[in-house]
Amino acid sequence: MDNYPTFPFDFEITRSKRKTLSIIIKSGKVEVKSPDFMPEVDVYQFLIQKQAWIKKHLTEQEVKLTQKLVITDGYEVMFFGKPRRIEVIYAGRPKVEVTDDRLLIYTRSNEPQALEKHFSNWLKLQASEYMTTQTIKTARALGVEERLKEVVFRKTKTKWGHCCSDGTIQYNWLTMMAPKPVIDYLIAHESSHLVHMNHSKKFWQTVATVCPDYKDLKDWLKTYGHRFWTE
Ligand SMILES: [Zn+2]
Repeated sequence: MDNYPTFPFDFEITRSKRKTLSIIIKSGKVEVKSPDFMPEVDVYQFLIQKQAWIKKHLTEQEVKLTQKLVITDGYEVMFFGKPRRIEVIYAGRPKVEVTDDRLLIYTRSNEPQALEKHFSNWLKLQASEYMTTQTIKTARALGVEERLKEVVFRKTKTKWGHCCSDGTIQYNWLTMMAPKPVIDYLIAHESSHLVHMNHSKKFWQTVATVCPDYKDLKDWLKTYGHRFWTE
């Protein structure tokens, strides 16, 4: 092709012994995987066809990247669904305090890893205090308190919560960043699994008895949930 078309994004073409063309979009970069001997004109033709799709995915990734959690002085972090400005304060003994609009991290080291560690430990503690108490209360309201074995906290990649058949309920402690009604929905959801170990109609009826707005809250988690992930 003499006149290469121009695209509103950068891309890289990598060739290998493959049979078909494919496009990979990762961390805001576009890579076109092409069969070794495919003429360039065909590769460009493919890019022209897929242009709208590429642009859509690049925009989506951009949004997700900017919403990635960063624990640094001056940045904002959510707690109970409210943004708090991070303030790093030098102190010999680390501690974290939350005010109405700020999150104070007292620390000896300003390193991002140290800050993230203080923040994670603190958030986990908040989760174990709030969510454990609420889960016991909800299980009691549902009349299944004796089925609840224990409440544990993990940072899982894909799940907000999980209820095991032995009555152990597991939560992702990053949930503490979500608004309180969303946290309470998650608690209602997992506690209702102590009654029904499935997602049947009866299960959702049980959820509704302790969380009447569950439908909206479920949608909220689906739409905004990725904002809370740390990588
Ligand atoms: Zn479930």
